[in-house]
Amino acid sequence: MSRPLCAYCGKALPKLTTTVWCYGDGAKIRQQDSNWSRYLYLPDEQLPRTIEDCRRLSNQQVLSVKYSSEYNREADAFERGPVSRFTEWDGATYWTASQPFCKPECALAFARLAHRAGMKIARP
Ligand SMILES: [Zn+2]
Repeated sequence: MSRPLCAYCGKALPKLTTTVWCYGDGAKIRQQDSNWSRYLYLPDEQLPRTIEDCRRLSNQQVLSVKYSSEYNREADAFERGPVSRFTEWDGATYWTASQPFCKPECALAFARLAHRAGMKIARP
């Protein structure tokens, strides 16, 4: 599917991504994967630290990476820690819930313009 464009603002529809949360395997709470999220529980030394590490943990495109911060006692400063979450995309699927608009606000703006231009719902 070629990337659809919003009928109001012309921007490309957002990519439909999954957020992958990365936790140490000592995490007390285990969450269930959903359509939007999946959860990895890894030994601390195997937590991803770079986008390349994230790519090895995904069979999709890795689009963004968020890092945790770690306190370094010697430097008395926070430093970039392991990846806390990243987003992955299948390379083909877009957020189409508001199609042909990119978001509900664009649908509303389009509807207002149409109304101002005289468009009306036909009533019997
Ligand atoms: Zn739009």
